[in-house]
Amino acid sequence: MHKPLIAAALAALALPVPLAAQTGVDERVAELRDAALDDDYAWAITEAITTELGPRMAGTPAEARARKWAVETLTAMGFSNVRDEPFPLRTWVRGIETGAVMGDHSQPLALTALGNSAATPVDGLEGEIVYFPSLADLQAEPDGALRGRIAFVSHAMTRTQDGSQYGAYGIVRRAGPAIAAQKGASAILIRSIGTDSHRMPHAGSTVFPDGTDPIPAAALAIPDAEQLERLIERGKPVRVRLILTPRVLGTRSSGNVIAEVPGSDPSAGIVVVACHLDSWDLGTGAIDDASGCAIVAAAAKRIMDAGQPRRTIRVLWAGAEEVGIFGGRAYFEAHKGDNHVLAAESDFGADRVWRLDTRFAPANQPLADRLAAALAPLGIATGTQPASGGADVSALIANGVAGIDLQQDGTRYFDLHHTPDDTLDKVDPAQLRQNVAAWTAMLAIVADAPERISATK
Ligand code: ZN
Ligand code: ZN
Repeated sequence: MHKPLIAAALAALALPVPLAAQTGVDERVAELRDAALDDDYAWAITEAITTELGPRMAGTPAEARARKWAVETLTAMGFSNVRDEPFPLRTWVRGIETGAVMGDHSQPLALTALGNSAATPVDGLEGEIVYFPSLADLQAEPDGALRGRIAFVSHAMTRTQDGSQYGAYGIVRRAGPAIAAQKGASAILIRSIGTDSHRMPHAGSTVFPDGTDPIPAAALAIPDAEQLERLIERGKPVRVRLILTPRVLGTRSSGNVIAEVPGSDPSAGIVVVACHLDSWDLGTGAIDDASGCAIVAAAAKRIMDAGQPRRTIRVLWAGAEEVGIFGGRAYFEAHKGDNHVLAAESDFGADRVWRLDTRFAPANQPLADRLAAALAPLGIATGTQPASGGADVSALIANGVAGIDLQQDGTRYFDLHHTPDDTLDKVDPAQLRQNVAAWTAMLAIVADAPERISATK
């Protein structure tokens, strides 16, 4: 009740009104939030992960090195109970990958194998292209109709701020190769799931269900997919030759790195803030997802350094997300009995947070209102979607844990996602700091909230 009076008094004196007084936000929260706008921890972590560790493909020695570095770094930052929780992982690695149009219009194609792709023979595989403008067109093909030929699905996604097209178009990558295999295709090419116009193919996993033998499967860079479409439009058969030599190494080890800020009240439950430490191998995984790990750890450190919170904050740097969310599942299996009250994840790049979504019980509306008020000065509006939490915490949220999404601007995310171009120079330090400020304000509120936090009544 005093804050409007303070604001009025300051206004009468023509002095600047502190943000906290303007918005009715708890002063301590506002101070932590505003100090985080000068954060350097997140940049330092992102810079170190991308520079010292480089690509971090799940199950490989590079990911193991990243986990060791993560334990050392989070320990040095002052977190408690820092550990690496390993789990077994069937590990696929990329080999040689080349593609070319053959015949009168012969020319190379820029492509990359999809995760779980089968290999071609070492001297390559050649076939006639059968073109499908959409996944539905491929699905409509009779079983066995593609025998001996190479399916090509274009199905272009478009740019959106919330990245919502990834769900609808990403299925071409996730499910298209298995469908093509079921139709008898010898291989499949897809247009990369991306929004750029560079000769950079977008990697990503595909899934061959039990009973479907994997076939060679690759994503074409977007200009190369459009080039192939134009060649097909000329009406003559188009033949392509592919050499892909990925391998399954067998069962190797991945792991989840966990660090904590212990709370003062164990009965108040645990707040999990997650990201994934593994990355695809073409770039250095700067926006996917070194920056996410940096944001959640920087925010948790800022809360830790400001004094012990009521609730335990658990930082989860998950392993093996890219190849099928294995870390998120392993975490859930190991910790489903823990008293989680809230989960959130940063895994959509390093551009600014623009929207707050929550998944709370109706009784937690005052908590949602406090979050909205604290985030508004950062240019963050309240959305209408229930929070989904991100891949590595989705099992927690599906099992009734409350969630918060600090939605990042994804306008340029799919220009870079899973490409060789996902590198540190794409991270904007000012927007990265805005993320840290948003996560710090969020954690300052939820970690100390006096009420019970719940997603259900
Ligand atoms: Zn990611
Ligand atoms: Zn990814």
